[in-house]
Amino acid sequence: SDNRADIASKTVKTTCCYCGVGCGVEATVEDNRVTAVKGDELHPANLGRLCVKGSSLHETQSNPNRLLQPMLHGEATDWETALNYSADKFKAIVEQYGPESVAFYLSGQLLTEDYYVANKLMKGFVGTANIDTNSRLCMASAVVAHKRAFGGDVVPGNYEDLENTDLVLLVGSNTAYAHPIIYQRIVKAKAARPNMKVVVIDPRRTATCDIADYHLAIRPGSDAFLFNGLLGYLADNNALDSEFIANHSEGFDEALSVAKAQVASVEQAAVMCDVAKNDLTAVYDLFAKTTKAVTVFSQGVNQSSSGVDKGNTIINCHLATGKIGKLGAAPFSITGQPNAMGGREVGGLANQLAAHMSFDNQPDIDRVASFWRAPNMAQGEGLKAVDMFQAVHDGKIKAIWIMATNPVVTMPDANFIREALEKCELVLVSDCIANTDTGKLADVVFPATTWSEKNGTVTNSERRISLQKGFLPAPGQAKHDWQIISEFAQKIGFEQAFNYTHPVEIFREHAALSGVDNGVDVGTNTRPVRGFDISGMQHISKQAYENLQPIQWPVNSHKPNGTARLFEDANFFTASGRAKFVPISARFPQMPPKDNQVIMNTGRIRDQWHTMTRTGSAAKLLGHIDEPFIDIHPADAKRFGLAHKDIAVLENRGARYLGRVNVSDSQRVSEVFVPMHWNDNFASSSRADALVNAITDPLCGQPEFKHSPVEINPY
Ligand code: SF4
Repeated sequence: SDNRADIASKTVKTTCCYCGVGCGVEATVEDNRVTAVKGDELHPANLGRLCVKGSSLHETQSNPNRLLQPMLHGEATDWETALNYSADKFKAIVEQYGPESVAFYLSGQLLTEDYYVANKLMKGFVGTANIDTNSRLCMASAVVAHKRAFGGDVVPGNYEDLENTDLVLLVGSNTAYAHPIIYQRIVKAKAARPNMKVVVIDPRRTATCDIADYHLAIRPGSDAFLFNGLLGYLADNNALDSEFIANHSEGFDEALSVAKAQVASVEQAAVMCDVAKNDLTAVYDLFAKTTKAVTVFSQGVNQSSSGVDKGNTIINCHLATGKIGKLGAAPFSITGQPNAMGGREVGGLANQLAAHMSFDNQPDIDRVASFWRAPNMAQGEGLKAVDMFQAVHDGKIKAIWIMATNPVVTMPDANFIREALEKCELVLVSDCIANTDTGKLADVVFPATTWSEKNGTVTNSERRISLQKGFLPAPGQAKHDWQIISEFAQKIGFEQAFNYTHPVEIFREHAALSGVDNGVDVGTNTRPVRGFDISGMQHISKQAYENLQPIQWPVNSHKPNGTARLFEDANFFTASGRAKFVPISARFPQMPPKDNQVIMNTGRIRDQWHTMTRTGSAAKLLGHIDEPFIDIHPADAKRFGLAHKDIAVLENRGARYLGRVNVSDSQRVSEVFVPMHWNDNFASSSRADALVNAITDPLCGQPEFKHSPVEINPY
């Protein structure tokens, strides 16, 4: 019987589908079911570890809410009917109102191949860049900050840097909950080298603070003041890397003078950030005196009306001290979603072209058009997420296709998004789950395959491309997203460019495009002009693709085995080859609270993923926290007449969030924290993002999720 068990079960290597850490997973498969998972010890991202979400992957497999057939106006139908209806209507709208009347809204949950095909269809064939993604809510600030400083959207460092550094600053990141395996790696490194210091910069005292030598509970939104103050401190305390500044950067003097004009001293920085001067001085001193430092920044920095500027103040401090391109030294933006990075690689954002090319550059537009043989190449940026749904509400966009995301729960002013979709002429939704808050508003819902059923690549926070392997048959009538988009493309008249039969064909095309005119193989100029380049994989065999070993880009003829760390040669992707300091005049969030309001901050809890459509089905994952809550400081609880465990209601613009009161001095006074996850299928009136104002960063369009003035009352 032992032999029979061996034959019936097998182990498959794949990648976790949740967060941007991108952990390798070994799945045990028996009778077409995943019966167990464990961390892949050989995967460099996690080296055998998995967090509670990853280790529950098999428990979310048999989801009772799985969508198994196409739906047309709420009735089950077949693929031919669903696709014909969708394609005919979409095409008629484009013919009548032009390509700007349609839009796609994608997701960092999609695989790179799905993303690539959707982006190609819209930007090259339909003829509009109205294709954005929920990565707009996650990473858009870091993208622009990287481009301004480095000349390209590249993350310089990697996870090993976190283990080989002497100082980790975690800014706006509850790493212990949101990126648990990165946190575990830091914990282990600190245990092995107790002199390694950890600083947490976050208004909340989170679980991440358990390992912090210093926690700076800053005033929300004051990050850029803190780092402007640090830049001045470094200059005043002889802590600059003059050689790096002189030979590898430009703009230092102006950045310093703008920073000092605003934050002249540590005292002033402490007042701006509302932290103790002694603590701030100690942290500044640590950064000044530690050669190897990594600054990890995440949503507390990005989800802001000035997130780009915040990112650049962090990068400025790393450039000023030459803490970049070396083992254990990097500014490090960590991505929220499993494939936020891959989405950026294919140009999944409305202001990007494919392969890190740009709408600002006509030769780039022509290059992509020629590569795709595109009949209707978009010539300029499209609408970013908030503006896109505004245009849907205004009736300017008449058809939208939403894939693998749930904007009725996750977009700011989420009730407005619901209204917009209710009014929209044609709403298409692709999802693996039936009856999501967004799917309920769709004219047509396409059943998509999900983790373990579809093959494709994802890129994690350290630029590492891994395969999410398809090893189970698609359930019911579900199809892969790249397949659905390709069949749709063929039905609206673009047969040849979308006749893919396997995701490796898409991957090869994507890889080939990334190398076009990138300077790598031109003998006279070997300095690449773009960071993202995987041209070394453009001829990958199907077999090698299906057994893809994790690899960090760039991967090209110069770096055939990938690139662990960028800028080791201090060559950047700017025209001059030098990194750029960006002068930043820091600013606070746009909307201060009124006397009867508190500031609502939103974020993740440890055991749930996004809007809980998958993780909410696993009893184990509800064991940690099973209902929406409101963290509130004791002084505020008293002020608003609330006791621990009461139910309170937060309100803004008529939107309401009900949650269980959790009185805790981990909160600052006048600030509350709520989880972002709950949807209307789990708890009515607890969609936190309905209360978030649709205020965005003018440079990148990322909304301000961390700072919403709301009223709070007993329920
Ligand atoms: Fe999955 Fe992220 Fe957990 Fe790793 S840390 S197992 S990628 S959810």
